[in-house]
This record gives sequence, structure tokens and C-alpha cells, in this order.
Amino acid sequence: SLSDRLTETLDALRGKGKLTEADIAHAMRDIRMALLEADVNFKVVKDFVAKTRERCMTAEVLESLTPAQNVVKIVLDELTELLGATESKLVLSNRIPNVIMLVGLQGSGKTTAAAKLAYLLKKQGKSPLLAACDVYRPAAADQLATLGAEIGVPVFKGDGTHPVAIAQGAVREAVDTMKNVVIVDTAGRLQIDEAMMAEAVEIKRAVKPDQVLMVVDAMTGQDIVNVVTTFAERTDFDGVIISKLDGDARGGGALSVRAVTGKPIKFASVGEKPDALEVFSPERMAKRILGMGDVIGIIEKAQEMADAEQMAAAERMLREGFTMTDMLEQMRSVRKMGGMSKILSMLPGGQKALQQFGGAMDESIFDRNEAMILSMTKAERDRPGIINGQRRARIARGSGTTPADVNTLMKQWGEMNKMFGRMRSMANDMAGSKKNK
Ligand code: GDP
Ligand code: MG
Repeated sequence: SLSDRLTETLDALRGKGKLTEADIAHAMRDIRMALLEADVNFKVVKDFVAKTRERCMTAEVLESLTPAQNVVKIVLDELTELLGATESKLVLSNRIPNVIMLVGLQGSGKTTAAAKLAYLLKKQGKSPLLAACDVYRPAAADQLATLGAEIGVPVFKGDGTHPVAIAQGAVREAVDTMKNVVIVDTAGRLQIDEAMMAEAVEIKRAVKPDQVLMVVDAMTGQDIVNVVTTFAERTDFDGVIISKLDGDARGGGALSVRAVTGKPIKFASVGEKPDALEVFSPERMAKRILGMGDVIGIIEKAQEMADAEQMAAAERMLREGFTMTDMLEQMRSVRKMGGMSKILSMLPGGQKALQQFGGAMDESIFDRNEAMILSMTKAERDRPGIINGQRRARIARGSGTTPADVNTLMKQWGEMNKMFGRMRSMANDMAGSKKNK
């Protein structure tokens, strides 16, 4: 992948103490190849490499004590710059309702993005209404209705045949039902198509959106340039949602879009679930491409989940030890964060590690562990220490696993419990030394 190639190139540089101009020229050639292979637009690559090379070829860099680190920093800076430098928020006027319109090719991820955006805005205290203006794709309105029901956001379908009238009807409906944001999901074709463009232009004229967002599939190759340029000319748009940035998206598309259109990437769609939409951070994306890991992303995710309840739970675990119920909770929160593969993939070097597991980790261990814990009695969950051989056999039978599986789980619990024990004595020591002062 792009990330692996770039990491290799930069690692090779790090291995050298002093860098010559030839070393840098060589690294730049590798970077150029890696970007081209990842389908970054050729002109974008050319400009990027020229700029980066120029910044690296200075005496300051070559003669510094840590030239490789300087090069890495410059590549990271330039990549961040290419991706838009700063986060770009949704800009909404104080009009009620605000209107957000999504455009893009068929299959790019508009309908799911519409629902995700509605969900995000709802969490921010807005009351959204989804407008189903794709009247061509069979069941498109039903797809939106299903997603809407899942996140508790109403969907306006109108007469189901006239997209412009549906968009207008949705705005009226929003006024009547006290909704303050209308998200208009539109139809897209597989290729740029005059009728589709004309219709998007007409909807835009009719409802005058505060924001038109173009949804772009991260996996689109070189084609992306033509597509975004045409949309920029016809409907114009204020920003981009880059979709399907999960999985093995090469990210090349993301790199081109910003450079070619000058429009900011506002959101990244990273999965099929309603909460899989992130505010796009150029620096984080650049770090991810360079294999430096999305540590901030993990921390943010963890913070989102670390509510008061969990703090209380941590305190209790320190006080009373780690139970099987805690273990169950912990596994469930790893799942909520998207599973072990997702977490691992965001860690520095995680993508590579993941490949050793064939691209994904065996998440079924969660199912087995969960089944085992659910087969335990309350006493066993609270005080796993009492689980003897006989009980292990019973738990294995009850959960459709083997005694060896139960042993593995017990070992994991033992490790965790030990860790909490150590933390407890550390906390006690600290409390003790405070008192002695
Ligand atoms: P539309 O034709 O532009 O409305 O595209 P859809 O929203 O219907 O999405 C097309 C397909 O891509 C669906 O199967 C979605 O579930 C899937 N999809 C959309 N966004 C993402 C994403 O961020 N990640 C993944 N893995 N799949 C996505
Ligand atoms: Mg759709």
C-alpha cells in the first residue's frame, strides 16, 4: 500500500547517518513512484515532489545532525498541506432550516453519508430531516428510510418521482415539523451524465443549499480528477466527503481531490455504520499515509467512550479487583470502537501487523469469550478465582467452547487482575506518601 511504500522509503533514509543529494533524489523517486501507484494524479505528484525535493535539498537539511528526521518532517508537512492544512468545518448560516445537499456518482456513498451526517448533526443537538431525492435507483428511498429509522431521523419521500419537488417539499416539511437542517440525498449515475448534472443543478437552484458536499469514493483511481472537475464546474460544491476510507483504500484519491479542486475535504467516511463519519484532519491523514499511525484518532475514540460511568468503573476495579463482568464490558467497548482490527490499523505500524493476521484479526474470539462469560454464574463472574477444573468443564459445555478456551480466558483475566493489583498498590503508595507529607 501507499503507506507501506512511503514508510519503507523513509525508514531507509533513517538508516543512514549523513544524507547526500543522491540519497534524497533517490528517496524522492521512491515517493514519486509510491504516489503514482496509489493513483494520485500525475500533475499533483509532480508538483508535490518538486516542492518537497526543493525543501529537502537545502544545506540546512543535508548538514543537520538528523537529516532523515528533517526529511520525514518535510514530507509530512507537504503531505498535510496537500490535504488541506487545517480542518474545515461545516459552515451553516442562521437560516432555518439549513440545507445541505449531497452530490456524487452512484455508489460513491451519498445515501449512507447523508444518514451519517444526520446522525452527527443530531448528536450536536440539531434536528435533521432527510430528503430522498434519488428516484431512479430502485429502493433508494427505502434505503434512506431504513437508515433514518436506525438513527431516529425522519425521511421525506414526497411523491417519489420528482426530485426537485421532493427537495422543496422537504424544506416545507422541515418548517412545518420544526426541523432545522434538511439533508438532501440526490441521485448519481455511474458516469458523468448530462441529465444527472442538470437535475443536480436544478435541485440546487430550487433549495439554495448552505452547503453542497461532494461525496467521493476513496478507492476511485485517476478518474476522480475528471469527476470532481465536472462537478466543480456544474454544481460547484463547498467541500468533499471522502468515503470508504476504511478498508484498504489507497488514499490516492484523497490526495488528488484537494489539490485538483482546491475544495476542502470536510469529512471522512470510515465504515458502513451511522457513526462512521469523522471530521477530516489533514495532519492525521498525512500521518496515516506515512505510517505514523492515527494515535489521536484512537485517543479521541476512547475519550468519547470514557464517560463518568467508566471512570467510576475504573475506580471500583482498583478497589475491588477486576471481575469477569468488567472483562465483558471491556470486550464490548473494543467492539464499539470497531474491533481489534480497526484499533490495530490506527496504530503506528499497525497496518503491517494486521497483514500478519491476513488483513483482519480473528474477532470471533469476542464471541467465544462472551459466550463463556455469559455461561458463568454470578459468583464466578464476581470472583473468578473460584473457577476450578470442574467449573471450567461446565462453562465450556455451556458456551459451546472447549476447556482450553476457558483456560485461555482465565489466563487473560489473571493478567488483567494482576495489573489492577499492581495499580492498586501504586495508588495506595501514592495516597500513603501524600498523607505522610
Ligand atoms: P450512493 O449510491 O452514492 O448513495 O452510495 P451508497 O450510500 O448507497 O453506498 C454504496 C455502498 O457503499 C453501500 O453498500 C454502502 O454501505 C457502502 N459504503 C458507503 N460508505 C462507506 C464507507 O465509508 N465504508 C464502507 N466500507 N462502505 C461504505
Ligand atoms: Mg444513494
